[in-house]
Order: sequence, then structure tokens, then C-alpha cells
Amino acid sequence: MADATFCPPDLTVFCRLDDLGLVVVGQRVSATGAVLVCRVVELHDDGFCRRCGAHGTARDSVTRRLAHEPFGWRPTTLLVRVRRYRCAGCAHVWRQDTTRAAEPRSRLSRAALRWALVALVVGHLTVARVAEALGVAWDTANDAVLAEGHRVLIGDPTRFNAAAVIGVDEHVWRHTRRGDKYVTVIIDLTPVRDGSGPARLLDMVAGRSKQVFASWLAARPKAWAGGIEVVAMDGFTASSPRPSRSCPTRSR
Ligand SMILES: [Zn+2]
Repeated sequence: MADATFCPPDLTVFCRLDDLGLVVVGQRVSATGAVLVCRVVELHDDGFCRRCGAHGTARDSVTRRLAHEPFGWRPTTLLVRVRRYRCAGCAHVWRQDTTRAAEPRSRLSRAALRWALVALVVGHLTVARVAEALGVAWDTANDAVLAEGHRVLIGDPTRFNAAAVIGVDEHVWRHTRRGDKYVTVIIDLTPVRDGSGPARLLDMVAGRSKQVFASWLAARPKAWAGGIEVVAMDGFTASSPRPSRSCPTRSR
């Protein structure tokens, strides 16, 4: 290797699977998607019984299917081989720990969850496009993104503390026969104004009306809500796009 800043190609690292505690051991690439077979990297010996502590023996393995973040504009699917152990003492059966790769029972890898959330909130992709990119059903993508949004962003009780400027934007959440469903996204723009970092997601509220945002604002502590500046962003159908201390109003 002529340049010391390059290292040999590594599919595990390229697909950011080392962060998830996985190693790629096989691949199948087609025009419509890539499937990567992975094994779990054990940081500690997983072979001790969760019930009695005796050492178990490897019994067989099961395959956990996870949607991963898309590479090369096609879905990337992980087939994770998960070893199963059986306790010699109490006959308890357990699986290798895969919590670094995904939430329990999740069908999306942690990287896929983060990708989907950023795609939706920052990239303005619809849930349908996110689902297509991940190669999963609409409901799977929708449920996962909502849960992840609450877990990493909305679940943080300190998220309002430093906010001085918030942006309000609305997204089409789903196209339905009876019309579009909307979600109003509330973003902390203070780091952008201060030049200290990117915007942060504060909340997502179903609906698009002025009342939805007004009642959201009313539910916040008065001292906080009174001191913030509200900016209507792209999608929000406000009558006044300029920064305002009052609640934006819809033109329709
Ligand atoms: Zn046991």
C-alpha cells in the first residue's frame, strides 16, 4: 500500500457493522439489493447460563434478519447467525447477545434506525421512501422510526433546556385515500443560530393545524414557552415565514 492513510478494503468496516458487533462472512449482491451474512463478535463469553451460571454447550444457530442502512441506493439486508446454547445443568436455552446490533425484537439494525430517522427528519423522505430504501413494510419502518425518535430524542427530559429558537415544519406522513396525513416536526434551531452545531429534533406531533402546535406550546412550561422564538419552516403553511414570537398561523 503506497499511502499509509489507506488500509485494505473491509466490507464489515465499510458497512459500519463493526460498530454493531458484527462481522460479514458472506455476501449476495443483486440489482435489487445486497444481502450480507454476519456472525456475532462476542466481547465476552456468552456461553454461561442466564439462570444458573453453569456453562452451556452450543446447540445450533438461528438466523436473525435485520434491515440495515442502504448502500449504493439499494436495500442492504443482514442475515445474522445467532448461536444458541443449552445449559448442561438446568436445560435452559439462550441465544448469543445481539443487543449491540439491534433493539430486542427489532427488524432494523441500530444503524438502519438512525439512517431512517435522519432521512425522515433531515432529508424529508416520506415513510414510504424510507421503507423502500430499507426493504421493509411501511408499518415496520413507521413503528421503528417513531420508537427510535422517542428513544434517542424525545425521551431526553433535558432536551428543552437550552432551546431559544425553535423551528416548526410539517411533513406528509402518509398518503391515504381520504387525504394526506401530516406530522408537525418541532426542531431546536438554537445551535444553528449560534453556529455551535446542527439542529435537534424536539418533538413530533400528529396533525398539521395551527391548533396542534398551539396546544403543544401550551403544554410546555410557561417560562420556557414565553422566551422562545418560533420560526415557521419549509413545509409549515404559516401566513408569516419570518421569525415571530407568536404562534405561526396557517394561511388556509
Ligand atoms: Zn442453567
